[in-house]
Amino acid sequence: MNGFAPPIQRLVTELSKLPGIGNRTAQRLAFYILRASDADATALAAAITEVKQRIRQCEICFNLAEGPRCRICEDERRDATLICVIEDSSDVVPLERTHEYRGLYHVLGGALSPIDGIDPDDLRIAELYRRVAAPDSQVREVVLATNPTTTGEATALHIADGLRERSPQVTVTRLASGLPVGSDLEYADEVTLGRAFAGRRAL
Ligand SMILES: [Zn+2]
Repeated sequence: MNGFAPPIQRLVTELSKLPGIGNRTAQRLAFYILRASDADATALAAAITEVKQRIRQCEICFNLAEGPRCRICEDERRDATLICVIEDSSDVVPLERTHEYRGLYHVLGGALSPIDGIDPDDLRIAELYRRVAAPDSQVREVVLATNPTTTGEATALHIADGLRERSPQVTVTRLASGLPVGSDLEYADEVTLGRAFAGRRAL
């Protein structure tokens, strides 16, 4: 037993639920919060409460939104002919950082994984099909940017089949999984190298 007063132990327990935070780090953070000014500690608690109260899912793409629609769906400069399909809303950030992509998104909320009981109905796949096939849809291409993992690949294949069947006029593409920039071919694993080969393009 560590002998912490129950309120401190409760804080340590809650903090240790955060990803990448072990018990030792949780204790360190708890003592940091105890030493912080009342204003700083209250601001942290208020920020957590506010984000849970005010942030919702976008009614179109299921990205995080403050209000019914996210900033990307509300931005008329975005290219509405393109939809990029991702597993989680956290994937928007790295994709936006590339400045390569000016289209819209669709957040699935995970990847297909029959072992874990995650079926097509558990993801927003039907919503994607409806969105692409809607009468006012401008979508010409769907980019499948699920993770290059077993479940991500299975999800991409499933959706590609579904889209070909329902919306054959729409082009379906998959992100090329390339070689890490700045590294030698000899250090690439065979899966990465194989995919880079399969995804080669004309120069
Ligand atoms: Zn949106």
